[in-house]
Amino acid sequence: MEKLARKQVQGLTPYLSARRIGGSGDVWLNANESPFDNEYTVEASRLNRYSDCQPPQLINAYASYAGVTAEQVLTSRGADEGIELLIRAFCEPGEDTIIYCPPTYGMYAISAETIGVERKVVPLTDDWQLDLPSIERNLDNTKLVFVCSPNNPTGNLINRDDIIALLDMTKDRAIVVMDEAYIDFCPEASTVDLLKSYPNLAVLRTLSKAFALAGLRCGFTLANPELIQVLLKVIAPYPVPVPVADIASQALSKAGIERASEQIATLNTQRAYVNSELSAISGVTVYSGYGNYLLVRFPDGDSLFKAAWDAGIILRDSPIKDCVRISIGSDKECQKTVAFIKQQLAPSAA
Ligand SMILES: *Cc1c(COP(=O)(O)O)cnc(C)c1O
Repeated sequence: MEKLARKQVQGLTPYLSARRIGGSGDVWLNANESPFDNEYTVEASRLNRYSDCQPPQLINAYASYAGVTAEQVLTSRGADEGIELLIRAFCEPGEDTIIYCPPTYGMYAISAETIGVERKVVPLTDDWQLDLPSIERNLDNTKLVFVCSPNNPTGNLINRDDIIALLDMTKDRAIVVMDEAYIDFCPEASTVDLLKSYPNLAVLRTLSKAFALAGLRCGFTLANPELIQVLLKVIAPYPVPVPVADIASQALSKAGIERASEQIATLNTQRAYVNSELSAISGVTVYSGYGNYLLVRFPDGDSLFKAAWDAGIILRDSPIKDCVRISIGSDKECQKTVAFIKQQLAPSAA
């Protein structure tokens, strides 16, 4: 059957999500999920009817949360679908290209490859910032430039001045896609305020991380109304199941947002704890992180990752040498992980 698939698809390696990699244990810090399992009421009436393409209550609630107008919001099956819609709507397969800047989130490249759109790779600089001159040299045929901030897996923020320079550089040529999947953990770093000055900006958001709804599959693209209208041309007719819209609206109610802010504050405190405990171990470097995860460099990252895996502590390995990404989970998960790492690397101190 494989031979019947498109050439592009035959050559494809699917995204190895934390879920697909699997593992077994009782500490799951590999997918940047929230440890908080919040309660919702699910109403199972009117499921005989199709859902709204863009449920107004949900759109209005997110617009108000993000400080934009309803015309600037599109909701989709997670931020991942937003990535795909942008590529499908703006890139001609075989002609146009996207730029992405590794080490970064894997789905930009995978979505583009699936659709048959060329990728130009412009790595981040040594301090994980944008290489603007190199991006500029690669702008021919480029329609989309993906920038992730806080960046996954490194955790750092991309300099705002560089983002503005990039928006100026790409004006009338390409769209800058700011992936703000983790921005709720550091809202002051958002670029949403730039939407009013830059029609070539699109911002991706999600309820998967700070709102603790990874299993719901609900994300948003924020952009000027004209860009949103283009995406609405390619989106499926009923992308948001009725229960998803209901639950997402509850999460974005006043009470839902207050609960999320408390949980964000807790996770940020917890991240500081993990950071200070691990930084104190000789030979370990913790990079400052602004999302609900930390990138940590060990003397031997692979063996640490495997030892943790065998002990039922599931972390995420990374393409950066000796670095492991650790999600910030519950108190208990963080303490257990810290204790395990101390016992591995500094047995006398543990
Ligand atoms: C988790 C993640 C996403 C995907 O979010 P979903 O809304 O769950 O699809 C997008 N970008 C980055 C950087 C992420 O880490």
